[in-house]
Order: sequence, then C-alpha cells, then structure tokens
Amino acid sequence: MKQNVDFGFGCMRLPLLTAEESDSFDYENINKIFDRFLEKGFTYFDTAYTYHGYHGEEAVRKALVERHARDSFKLATKMPLRDFKDADDMDKIFSEQLEHCGVSYFDYYLLHNMGTNVYEKCKKYDAFGFAAKKKAEGKIRNIGMSFHDTPELLDEILSKYGEMLDFIQLQVNYADWEQTNVQSRRCIDVVRKYKKPVTVMEPCKGGTLVNLPKEAEDILKSKRPNSSSASWALRFAASQYGVTRVLSGMNSIEQVEDNTDTFLNFEPITEIEQKLLNNVKEIIEKNTPIPCTGCSYCTHGCPKGIAIPEYFALFNNISQITGSFSSQAVYYNNIALKHGKASECIECGQCEKACPQHLPIRKYLKDVKEKFEAGSSFPVRK
Ligand code: SF4
Ligand code: SF4
Repeated sequence: MKQNVDFGFGCMRLPLLTAEESDSFDYENINKIFDRFLEKGFTYFDTAYTYHGYHGEEAVRKALVERHARDSFKLATKMPLRDFKDADDMDKIFSEQLEHCGVSYFDYYLLHNMGTNVYEKCKKYDAFGFAAKKKAEGKIRNIGMSFHDTPELLDEILSKYGEMLDFIQLQVNYADWEQTNVQSRRCIDVVRKYKKPVTVMEPCKGGTLVNLPKEAEDILKSKRPNSSSASWALRFAASQYGVTRVLSGMNSIEQVEDNTDTFLNFEPITEIEQKLLNNVKEIIEKNTPIPCTGCSYCTHGCPKGIAIPEYFALFNNISQITGSFSSQAVYYNNIALKHGKASECIECGQCEKACPQHLPIRKYLKDVKEKFEAGSSFPVRK
C-alpha cells in the first residue's frame, strides 16, 4: 500500500482581486487558505521567481513568511532558467529571491522548467554547480529540477547531474500518463532508475481534471458519490511508485479542506478505479481540443501580447457547450480589447519554445482566429 506522501501548496494561481491583474493579491483570502493548510498539518509551499508576473515570491513573503515562524513551514522556489543571462545573473536573481521571500535559506530550490531550450545554457553557465555551491553555503537545503521534456533528455541530464539533485519535479496526472507531449509514465520510470524522489506538479492538469465534462464526472460519482474530481486526480498522482510529494494549486478554503482531507485519509487508486480513470481520460480528450494548462509561460515573450491561455480556454469551452457560443465570443472581444488578437500572431515561435506542454500554439491560434474572428458579429480591436 502507498502511504506517507506529503502534500504541498502550489502558489502559481493564488486568489486575486482582479483576474486581469496577476499581482492584485487577495491577501485576506490567501492568509486564510495558507493558515488552514498549516493547521491541517501540512508545511510545504512551492513558488517561483516568475509566478504572478514576477510578484509571486513577494506574496508568499507577506502571507506566509512574515506571519509564521520560519521553522513552521518549508519553502521551495526556482531559478528561472529561461531568464538568467550568465553566472553573475544567476547570483543576482538568487539574492533577489532571498529578499523577495524574506528568508536566509530555501528548504528546496529548483532549476525551473528544464528542457531542450535551456539545457545548453545551463551547461554553459553551470546552473547545476551554482545550486550545489549555494547548498554548500547553507542557503539551499535540497536541490531539485522541474522538468518538462522527453524521457530521453531526462535520462541524459540525470546521468550527468543526478548526483547533485535531491529530487525531481514532474508533471504527473492520469490524463498525461501516456500523452505524447508529456509522457508522465516514461519520465517517472527514468527518475526511478536513478532512485530519486518525485514531486508531482499539475496533478489536476491546471484544473482540467477538476472541472470534468458531466459524462466523466458521473462515472466517478457512481463509484464514490462523496469524492470530488480533484481527489481522484490527487490520489492517482500519489499512488505512483517513487512519488513522495504532490503539489496542488488551491485558491479557496473548500479546496484546501478537500485536498488536505484526501491526503489525511489517503487511499491508493485500485485497479477497478484505474479503469474508470481511463474512461474519464477518453471523455476529456474528446472534449478538450487544446490541452493547455493555463500556466502562462508562453505569454511572457510574445511581442504581440496575445492572451494565449485565455483564448485557448474559450476555444475549449465552446467545444464543451452545445448551442450558441455567444458568451464565449463576448469574453473574446473583451480580452482582445486589451491584448493582441489571435490573428495578430506573427508566427515568431517564441511562445512554443516556452510552452512546457510543447503545444503547437501557432496552429491553435489559427483555429481560435477561425472560430472567433472569421465572420464574427462581435467587433474586436482594430
Ligand atoms: S508565435 Fe505568435 S503568439 Fe507566439 S510569441 Fe510569436 S506572436 Fe506571440
Ligand atoms: S499554451 Fe502552453 S505555455 Fe501557454 S498557457 Fe498553455 S500550456 Fe502554458
């Protein structure tokens, strides 16, 4: 039986006062949900330099670090591999992070979003050696790497740098288990080979496995009427051999209660339940033409300021509802007043290099344009 899997608070999608402003933190709510998480006996918080438009660490300082004793929680943050320019810049960013978070050390420190596009740079400027040096200085307790690429590259990296890494963070969920862009199962197999513990990110695939199509939800409810869709996704991730921690982004008290209860009364996924999840996965795939997790990594470098994840969510919504798509078109119009439209994409490809899911964003934007701009009766920004 699988037991003793820790549960961590992912801080990528904290409650906001205004959805359009990624740093308009709703501290009243954030304080409440952080406090409740700690009260339930959990201590791990995961943030990153880049979260919430580079303000996420500051929010964690205000809601967690400044309100709780340093030894009552464990803090993880990440070096933005996409952003650092050279070795000196890594040092500068690291110092900023200590200041943003208001701490003198990090319990866990990860090289963020490792993959083909940043690996050469990491080798050139010895990002692994940098983290090891900070660990030797006592400023990092455990070194990790969050990884979004092929099992082959993961194997290559672990064969060279595995000794320096204390844990690996992977995207593991039942929808991506065999999915060709993510390959959760094969990546977990590689990490097992090197006997490293796995921390799971995106167990609910950015909310996709929480808000299931009704047909899929009915399947799960027929087996466990009182269990949420999220609890199934968390149990799946925590049931995999080698997984020692699962992270989940929560933004309400209800979610904190439900998710923490799932771990306090943990039950591994049974064989029968696994078959049900396979059925659910098929229904999700049928209803979600664009498998975007909404992480927003793609928008940072877009020269046209295109609201990529928002447009993809609207596109997916249309495929899940029947009849008129007018309300989604109104949303599209409103978003397009402040951001670039799908049709403004100049196909530079920046976004695709940054996307951890390796989505063909340019192709999908053409689908979005076709759906929302061609012949639409709703005016969009000129
Ligand atoms: S390819 Fe299009 S959407 Fe992607 S970064 Fe370039 S302009 Fe933006
Ligand atoms: S397109 Fe990719 S990078 Fe952009 S929000 Fe979706 S999953 Fe994240």
